[in-house]
Amino acid sequence: MDNLLEIKGLRVSYHTYQGEVQSVRGVDLEIGQEESVALVGESGCGKSVTGKSILRLIQAPGEILPGSQITFDGRDVLSLSKKELRAYRGGQASIIFQDALAALNPTMTVGRQIMENLLYHRKIGKREARAEAIRLLGEVGIPNPEKRVDQYPHEFSGGMRQRVMIAIAFACQPQLLIADEPTTALDVTIQAQIIKLLKQLQRENHTSILMITHDLGVVASIAQRIFVMYSGVIVERGSSDDIFYRPRHPYTRALLQAVPRMDQEGKQELNSIEGTPPDLIAPPEGCPFASRCKYAMPVCARLAPEVTDFGGGHRCACWLYHEMAPRVAELNDPDAAPAGEEVGQ
Ligand code: SF4
Repeated sequence: MDNLLEIKGLRVSYHTYQGEVQSVRGVDLEIGQEESVALVGESGCGKSVTGKSILRLIQAPGEILPGSQITFDGRDVLSLSKKELRAYRGGQASIIFQDALAALNPTMTVGRQIMENLLYHRKIGKREARAEAIRLLGEVGIPNPEKRVDQYPHEFSGGMRQRVMIAIAFACQPQLLIADEPTTALDVTIQAQIIKLLKQLQRENHTSILMITHDLGVVASIAQRIFVMYSGVIVERGSSDDIFYRPRHPYTRALLQAVPRMDQEGKQELNSIEGTPPDLIAPPEGCPFASRCKYAMPVCARLAPEVTDFGGGHRCACWLYHEMAPRVAELNDPDAAPAGEEVGQ
């Protein structure tokens, strides 16, 4: 499968009075045509910065550092002209955020906001754009779209506003949708509806999706591959099955232990991960997870872990898989994985 998006050695820093915050420290990630990929990690790990970098939405004091590469459909995103960038954003690649109210313009009807995107990217007139906006509102599940098209964002509930954002994002049938915590502010029932809608629109529009979330449970039903990010780096990547049933990195396992399991309702103790991530102004030389890892060895604090390839695209950056490391049964034995079939639903 040809990749639609390829990111190589992405580094993003924020220049602050305290020093250079190294938010993203060498990320490699690729997304195939019509593929759904999830980027998962705690807040502040650099996942949203990675998503924004794809659309070149990093603003000062942030900077995508030299040497980073982002290629979309064979084109170098980091050298697009202003005009090319406008056509790329919203036309070929779109983004939706957690806070739809903040992302929408409060002074403009939702219909106008959808039409703006259509009028800019497609060669159609106002009448046709309005009809298309109504059709799109109906398609994303807004009841009575002929009336709702003339209403303002504050007249919609949280779930309906997210549907409006999705209508804007899909207005020009983008090849890539970046969904940055799209369901975090919503209750569980609405979350499931939004994920179902994204899957349906992805199928109909042949779109690739990058789902960014702190919650592994949310991506269980949508992601084909998962990248786990910690402290600005990818610590594990693999198919959805690899991550849920054969997780290798201690951080991935800790994330999974924070996901409720349907088969253990009422019996399961959900674990939060103790400790805090390292300061990204002075990131550690060794493994960034060392200060929170119960398996940490002396080498972990001194040297960045080598990547072990388990085959089939499943890779993990952890010293425990070095040939000289002690074997830890619960990590080396896939059957000891903490998550079961019912994770996430
Ligand atoms: Fe833990 Fe060491 Fe592996 Fe890092 S490299 S996750 S500290 S065992």
